[in-house]
Amino acid sequence: MEEVIQVKHLEKHFGDLKVLKDIDFTINRGQVVTIIGSSGSGKSTLLRCINLLEIPDAGEILFNGENILGGSMKPAAYRSKVGMVFQNFNLFANKSVLENCMIGQIKVLKKSKEEARAEAMKQLKAVGMDAFANASSTTLSGGQKQRVAIARTLCMKPEVILFDEPTSALDPEMVGDVLDVMKKLAQEGLTMAVVTHEMQFAKEVSDVVVFMDQGVICEQGSSDQIFNHPQKERTKQFLSRFM
Ligand code: ADP
Ligand code: MG
Repeated sequence: MEEVIQVKHLEKHFGDLKVLKDIDFTINRGQVVTIIGSSGSGKSTLLRCINLLEIPDAGEILFNGENILGGSMKPAAYRSKVGMVFQNFNLFANKSVLENCMIGQIKVLKKSKEEARAEAMKQLKAVGMDAFANASSTTLSGGQKQRVAIARTLCMKPEVILFDEPTSALDPEMVGDVLDVMKKLAQEGLTMAVVTHEMQFAKEVSDVVVFMDQGVICEQGSSDQIFNHPQKERTKQFLSRFM
């Protein structure tokens, strides 16, 4: 098993509030790790630390064995390798779908416009959004925006993508389209860490399921272990709300 991301003894607090306490967490190449747990348990903070959007107070984060917290890694270049998809899409509202998918490739990967456009069209096609290339991103539905956000991330050729509740802001009828795209990426072997409340999806696609509770990893294991044979009382309690 080859580790892409290794988190060791990670600590993060906001003022007096300890949000992450001694977190050890690994994302292996080619695997899907889902992170489940109640609101406020620290799931987003963990992903945000891994994406360098929050600076941890202690601990290490290694990407392909290299510490990313030393300051030697340029955030934009690092984020092209470790992409993130957000609950609220974070598309550039004043830009077209195609421009959203091209800009990072041009600015960060220094690609030509032609190369960037070709890659953008390829990835938009992969998420079923190529017909909307010239639309303004503001005219799209939530589900369409999220598929564009995924295509934009894929254009950067990331080694891993972190998804933070990618379907939580969507109308129910849009959720399936986005989950289908994510399932396809999982089947293609993309390395992914996904914070989600979609338990059926988590059960189906996860190689590893991590249950977080109050800033600690309470329990982790295979999909079968966590969903069918949880050991900890807190895990059982949490999962019973979805049954
Ligand atoms: P989750 O994603 O599991 O819902 P979060 O990581 O967003 O949890 O939040 C964990 C805790 O940290 C919550 O109590 C939240 O209010 C707090 N928190 C998150 N971000 C900040 C911040 N920037 N400033 C202060 N408190 C924060
Ligand atoms: Mg969150």
